[in-house]
Amino acid sequence: MTDKIGIHWFRLDLRLNDNPAIENLSKDVDSILPIYIYDESQFMGQASKCWLENSLQSLNTKLNNLNSQLYIFRGNPKKIINKIIQNKKITHFYWNRLYDKDSINRDKDLKSFLLQNSISCQSFNGYLLTEPWNIQNKSGNFFKVFTPFWKTNYELLKNTKLDLSANKKYNFYNQNINFNLNFQELNLNTPKKIWMKKILSYWKVGEDEAKNKLKNFIKFKLKNYSSGRDRPDTELTSRLSPHLHFGEISPKRIFSEVIKSNINEDNKRKYLSEIGWRDFSYNLLYNYPKMTKEPIQTKFNKFPWLRDNKSLKSWKLGKTGIPIIDAGMKELYETGWMHNRVRMIAGSFLTKNLLIHWKEGEKWFFDCLVDADIGSNTAGWQWIAGSGADASPYFRIFNPILQGKKFDPNGEYVRKFIPSLKKIPDKFVHSPWEMSSQEQEKYNFFIGKDYLLPILDLSETRKRALAAFKSISE
Ligand SMILES: Cc1cc2nc3c(=O)[nH]c(=O)nc-3n(C[C@H](O)[C@H](O)[C@H](O)COP(=O)(O)OP(=O)(O)OC[C@H]3O[C@@H](n4cnc5c(N)ncnc54)[C@H](O)[C@@H]3O)c2cc1C
Repeated sequence: MTDKIGIHWFRLDLRLNDNPAIENLSKDVDSILPIYIYDESQFMGQASKCWLENSLQSLNTKLNNLNSQLYIFRGNPKKIINKIIQNKKITHFYWNRLYDKDSINRDKDLKSFLLQNSISCQSFNGYLLTEPWNIQNKSGNFFKVFTPFWKTNYELLKNTKLDLSANKKYNFYNQNINFNLNFQELNLNTPKKIWMKKILSYWKVGEDEAKNKLKNFIKFKLKNYSSGRDRPDTELTSRLSPHLHFGEISPKRIFSEVIKSNINEDNKRKYLSEIGWRDFSYNLLYNYPKMTKEPIQTKFNKFPWLRDNKSLKSWKLGKTGIPIIDAGMKELYETGWMHNRVRMIAGSFLTKNLLIHWKEGEKWFFDCLVDADIGSNTAGWQWIAGSGADASPYFRIFNPILQGKKFDPNGEYVRKFIPSLKKIPDKFVHSPWEMSSQEQEKYNFFIGKDYLLPILDLSETRKRALAAFKSISE
């Protein structure tokens, strides 16, 4: 009798543990052929490519330790899969599901193609706590508001046995396939080496690191999460977002470990609700597939966005003259990540003070973030612009000086990314232009030389934004 060989197609599930497709495949076949296909037609940001390359290498090392390898390919998935099944006797083909429209359409087509070829094809939930179609309100519709969505999701999860697999030894395939690529041939077109090296110097990539990070977060930081999560000057958030995006850890593993921990309820609940926002973003993306291009609230189609390339460039480069914005944008470019509170402040500044379309911010974030995620990034931008389903009300325009004073009271965060601010007292660190010429002399810090003047007047642009909003609300 010949061995049954099943393919596991890795996509955003770059892990061996808690991987329901692998777990189920291992029960149905004798050996698992693990493949990854890099499809250039699916846009990926530059920072994400850096992460991906390292994550694939890390997964490959894990598979090498199991006497196998990651079989990597480049090109159109259907063509490549067809070539594999023509060359090898494949009986099963499994993957974990994705939720954006392009992936859904591609996967549907592939499923019927594989079934026509008499290959058993199954897909699983390895990416979310609960999939969008499993959470509905009493009238059978999807939730458009986060609080009831999360309440329902949380109750569902609390009452479900989370089926998690850990450290199982699966039997992976180890024969040759003539047309798979090695890592040099894969050529992900990763960005300039210097930038890539700099970004990755802030991170360790891969499944083992994600597991360690979760363990340390629960041990040392979770107890202060509720009070500290909004403070960019502390490092009290988990920084698990890129690991979650690439599927190096499952949200169910996080849910289960956090629930089991002996940290107080308030901090546990708060942290899990943030993981809930991730599910909520996917709930929106699944139900409003056009939200990647169009506002969820249609009245925003008429919004008088401005075209202002000069200010957009200043924003991207962290040269707006407002310390908390500039520090955030520099953090993004330097590390591939930005603190959530600062993402909101920088997003509000772009869409409200500068009146620049949220799509511009979304594109820049997508290119620079190592956690760039079609669900969370789009939902985050629509939320901050005010055009989302459960959005921040448009009139809530963050004042970046007050936000800075409240969430970075000693200026540690802004000074980290704008070192010239180290010279001046805390009192001025979020608004250095308020220093008199005598004070500038005293601290040997000159506006225009050591730091910029703000590119706009915060109070005038606030009024302008409110008028623009009024114009689409009438
Ligand atoms: C304009 C804007 C753009 C964003 N773009 C992205 C993005 O591309 N990718 C991304 O993962 N997150 C995005 N977020 C959400 C959030 O900023 C990050 O998830 C968070 O900062 C990641 O840091 P952490 O892992 O330390 O978070 P923690 O506070 O430790 O939270 C744990 C996890 O919960 C999830 N999470 C937390 N907050 C949110 C949120 N508001 N929405 C969705 N999920 C959340 C993340 O997966 C995160 O890793 C965006 C937010 C805004 C306002």
